Amino acid sequence: MRILVPVKRVIDFNVRPRIKADGSGLDLANVKMAMNPFDEIALEEAVRLKESGEAAEVIVVSVGPAKAQDTLRTALAMGADRAILVEHDADVEPLAVAKILKEIIAETSPDLVILGKQAIDDDANQTGQILAGLLTWPQGAFASRLSINGGKIDVTREVDGGQETVRLSLPAIITADLRLNEPRYASLPNIMKAKKQHVTIKSPADYGVDCTARLKTLKLAEPPARSAGIKVPDAEALAVKIKEMGVA
Ligand code: AMP
Repeated sequence: MRILVPVKRVIDFNVRPRIKADGSGLDLANVKMAMNPFDEIALEEAVRLKESGEAAEVIVVSVGPAKAQDTLRTALAMGADRAILVEHDADVEPLAVAKILKEIIAETSPDLVILGKQAIDDDANQTGQILAGLLTWPQGAFASRLSINGGKIDVTREVDGGQETVRLSLPAIITADLRLNEPRYASLPNIMKAKKQHVTIKSPADYGVDCTARLKTLKLAEPPARSAGIKVPDAEALAVKIKEMGVA
């Protein structure tokens, strides 16, 4: 089995994003970037499937600027076998990413594609679902557990009322939720080795995909600051306060 894992380079989740003064977007100058955390989980799952003998090859792909090669090298250090960068400097919307992935899938023939459930920069939560639609492949979104049984894959999904398990036939699309696993750290020797590994460089035009934006960000604003809380001396005072505020 071959697994494809799309990984996006995003602002490191520990960094507090700064909005540009004109509200047109995020200020990314000198900001630490990293692999989207849900993609680390997707990749970890793919590497575990390889280690358990279920998969023979893990391919990682990123659509982004030349710097996204760093993200792909982290993925190689975590255990991916080969990497493809589809180089594009501007932001790429989920539809265009999904169209590119569809072409890469035609080229590489994976049995399984594991994406993150969402990229933490745009919080779109769309790419996996659009890709499944374009391919008319079954999809298991928000996976918290996977198990492969012959040509089928059972996916336990985090849904509103609890957990749901669905059985998909392969090839299929999975999107990884937080509880699927705890991703490993790449070891230093593997990081050093990955620096020398080949990354295939392509462009959206190689796949016949037009990445022109269809959406325009009108304005980006910080969430309103939280007003300060108050302290009450005891439970009785708390009950009075709750009544006063009309929330009970
Ligand atoms: P989104 O729909 O943007 O929230 O992203 C969902 C998932 O799609 C991510 O977790 C990645 O696995 C994949 N993805 C989105 N954008 C890219 C990109 N530019 N390059 C590679 N994978 C991406």
